[in-house]
Amino acid sequence: MRNQPSNDREMKEAVFYTMDDFARIRKVDAHTHINTHNTRLVNFAKSNNMGLLSINVDVPEYPSLEQQQEFTTGQLKANPEHFAYIASFRIQDVEEPGWVEKTIAGIEEAFTRGAIGAKVWKNIGMEYKDKTGDFVMVDDPRLDPVFDFIARKNKTLLGHLGEPKNCWLPVEEMTVANDKEYFTHHPEYHMYLHPEYPSYQKQIESRDHMLEKHPDMRFVGAHLASLEWSVDEIAERLDRFPNLAVDLAERISHLQYQAVNDHDKVRDFFIKYQDRILYATDICVDDAMPLETVEANAYTIWINHWKFFVTDELMEAPEVSDKFHGLHLPTEVIDKLYTTNFKKWYPQQDAINL
Ligand SMILES: [Zn+2]
Repeated sequence: MRNQPSNDREMKEAVFYTMDDFARIRKVDAHTHINTHNTRLVNFAKSNNMGLLSINVDVPEYPSLEQQQEFTTGQLKANPEHFAYIASFRIQDVEEPGWVEKTIAGIEEAFTRGAIGAKVWKNIGMEYKDKTGDFVMVDDPRLDPVFDFIARKNKTLLGHLGEPKNCWLPVEEMTVANDKEYFTHHPEYHMYLHPEYPSYQKQIESRDHMLEKHPDMRFVGAHLASLEWSVDEIAERLDRFPNLAVDLAERISHLQYQAVNDHDKVRDFFIKYQDRILYATDICVDDAMPLETVEANAYTIWINHWKFFVTDELMEAPEVSDKFHGLHLPTEVIDKLYTTNFKKWYPQQDAINL
């Protein structure tokens, strides 16, 4: 079902952006991975009035966390008004004596160097087992002092915990093409192939339990908090946890998929939770990638998302098999999605001043 403004009053008062406004309106892409000293993509974003938040993360095929820290602090120096970053830490040595102190010292140093938050990744819950052979889950009490420290410093924890629900399905049953492609190339994270690993439900429960234990910590659930398949499920968590927001990184296709049959429901979700959602893509760049292609792809992604959020056009996306209408969100909601919520959920005065 497609939305029309619900009454004449909304019709008269609501103001909308157009495609021509894209370059003019201030924006932040709140989830990218800038693993290079080359400033071309950041400068290109800047020329489109967009700031980038880069996330350091302990992905095996990425440069080391130390190298990522060098890249991101370098980028921050080069473009302090259009770049910000989030630091990360290693979980592998969680059982070593002194892990808590060492980890907190590392995060504190990153904050001193300008990081506006810290990230935990799906290797918690999907990779590391302790000596007893149990997976280290995010509600593990051994992680509590680190989260307490982040909250005390008034920083934000960003968490990519669990995976899309599709990860527990065979590839041919997955709903969107980007998940099919990712899990085909990453069988190690395709949980349908690893029934002995913690279930989807278990991942979500341990994340929710961690949030229950840390009500004072701001938490951004990356990738729609791994509840991308249902706006109702995301809404339920946003209602339950006032200090939770979600980023859209690499999961907008799931909302487009839901918009095929439930357009109004997806639009209502954005209206109702307009203070809790951050625009984000998961665009990556490193030194092995041809920068011209990265730049062109980034522009295509940004402009197609803009079309989805600001217009009511019938459109298609490479990840989704059917057509859907844009959400036609009012300017007020778009501004929150693209800038205000970034400032609110990663509050640091000098972080990205467009
Ligand atoms: Zn990411």
